Amino acid sequence: MYKIELNKRQQKIVEIVKDHGPITGEHIADQLDLTRATLRPDLAILTMAGYLDARPRVGYFYTGKTGSQLLTEKIKKIKVAEFTSMPVVVQESSTVYEAICTMFLEDVGALYIINKNGHLVGVVSRKDLLRASMGKQEINTIPINIIMTRMPNITYCYKDDFLLDIAHILIDKQIDGLPVVKKSQNENGLEVVGRITKTNITKALVELAHDEIL
Ligand code: ADP
Repeated sequence: MYKIELNKRQQKIVEIVKDHGPITGEHIADQLDLTRATLRPDLAILTMAGYLDARPRVGYFYTGKTGSQLLTEKIKKIKVAEFTSMPVVVQESSTVYEAICTMFLEDVGALYIINKNGHLVGVVSRKDLLRASMGKQEINTIPINIIMTRMPNITYCYKDDFLLDIAHILIDKQIDGLPVVKKSQNENGLEVVGRITKTNITKALVELAHDEIL
């Protein structure tokens, strides 16, 4: 993501294009008593941010988009890949006790359970492990696949999905995160390549506020 705050000169350029567009870079430069070369980076930033559009042999024109429209567009374009974290996976033959240890050691809220082919078969969250520990069951011996939420009930996503869609899914399903998967090349099955959680979405929000387009 690029960091952008419109400086005085950029704001002036927007005003000129608003009043006189379509207008060539040369003419904008004339109005500001600057060279075309000096203006080039500003024009690139304004075009990239969506304030201006450029047409070959016509010039620059004002898109008419407000800061909040541009921000909304930017939010809608964020992909899962930009904010995904490393997944923590455990084998389905692991015990509940081992899963609890892994969750503490790795400091995550959910573990993804894989079979011996490395394919996603389940999810366990903190509450699943608490529930299993509260009963009379022997957590040192019960395999994690007895208590996990299993396929086909797992909601997952791909790197190319939009982060905003994932936010909607987390709210709808009342879960904290999703495994990011890719289709296994050789066999039928899904490999876990990442995880996207409410924390990742919060990070995206903070980054957006930091990159705010004024
Ligand atoms: P917590 O245990 O902290 O409340 P969640 O809200 O994420 O964690 O999980 C609630 C329940 O949903 C658990 O039983 C968990 O196994 C299940 N779960 C978590 N993530 C997913 C997912 N991506 N797909 C399907 N079920 C999930």
